Amino acid sequence: MYEIYFSETCKEEKIMSECFLCKNETATLRESGYEWRIICPNCGKLVITDDLYSDIKAATGECFRLPLPEPDNGYRYLRVPVADLFFKARCVAAERKLKDQDEYILVYDYKKNELLPEVGNFYHIGIKEFLDSFPATHEVLDRALLNLGRLGSGIFGESIYIFETEVKKEIPSANINILYASNKNVAAKILINLKENNFIEVEEMNYQGSFFEWKFYISAKGWDRIAGLKNTADKYSEKAFIAMWFDVKHTRGIREALKKAILSSGYLPIVIDEVPHADFIMNRVINEINEARFVVADFTCINEDNKKDDKEDDKIKGGVRGGVYFEAGYARGQRKKVFHTCRKDSASEKRLHFDIKQINTLFWEPDGESIKDRDKFIDDLKQAIWAEVGKGPRLRK
Ligand SMILES: [Zn+2]
Repeated sequence: MYEIYFSETCKEEKIMSECFLCKNETATLRESGYEWRIICPNCGKLVITDDLYSDIKAATGECFRLPLPEPDNGYRYLRVPVADLFFKARCVAAERKLKDQDEYILVYDYKKNELLPEVGNFYHIGIKEFLDSFPATHEVLDRALLNLGRLGSGIFGESIYIFETEVKKEIPSANINILYASNKNVAAKILINLKENNFIEVEEMNYQGSFFEWKFYISAKGWDRIAGLKNTADKYSEKAFIAMWFDVKHTRGIREALKKAILSSGYLPIVIDEVPHADFIMNRVINEINEARFVVADFTCINEDNKKDDKEDDKIKGGVRGGVYFEAGYARGQRKKVFHTCRKDSASEKRLHFDIKQINTLFWEPDGESIKDRDKFIDDLKQAIWAEVGKGPRLRK
């Protein structure tokens, strides 16, 4: 499931070798009718829907009309210069890759049903939300420093390299996109600023003529700054992490309701499907919780006694779904607000661990593919979110 977009081959597939966003020539670009799949050393793995790709492509040299959904299902349009769009997109994509948050589907409007469903880790990101995560001018230096901190092993004194275009293998290195620099002159100014603030110690620098190569390490003061920034970053996050049992048969209705409640309270729901026996998914979970404003944890757990061969059975024999408890506990340890939900039935309620029984839990009951009193449940959760963490950044207007 995880590799679906990149391992599947399609009948009328076209393959190219220039990244659509950053123009890196060692990337692969596959077209398969509905979408473009990109694997790029700078931008990582991502998918762009064909309608979005074709519209951006057709707008080359002019302004791109970015449709903004209106509450009444209409649209108004924002004009974005195409050069700006590519510059911002390649920087945001580079940062997402560094944060291990590549693997997404760029769409026009994340609220709209698209031809491409969300699969595995690949969730929808609207093009406007994507571009909006580009930093404001006064944030550029901090965001660039955070990215530099993500490059290497984190060991003090390790040298880091920044090049104009290339990414060198086997050493912590990146190109200027991670600095939010549109060209090497801006990149040099950003690095000089970081140096003058004593956040980096430069070992070698060469940015004369067509050359651009910097070698440096992050100073003690720089690491201190990074630690401080990480502590405050989640206060502005628009993300909300959903911790739950990912089983389509039993939890589709509640999964959709939780996503709806989070969206309508102004946040972006992050759902990560459970991939058994894959350790790397845990890094992603930790990353996403770190970045999230709050967590919604659903403690539902259903035992099917008549299905002895079902692998899922093993996981609930102990009585609870450990992953959800782990994620909710980790989030609390990070001092994030955690909202609890659970299916109202004896099996789930019996298994709700003693320690969390005293915490307010929003119960729900299944109703076919959906849940009973869905609108009320969504509104209750939304009100709880607004009361505890406030309205989300997506409710600007
Ligand atoms: Zn790229």
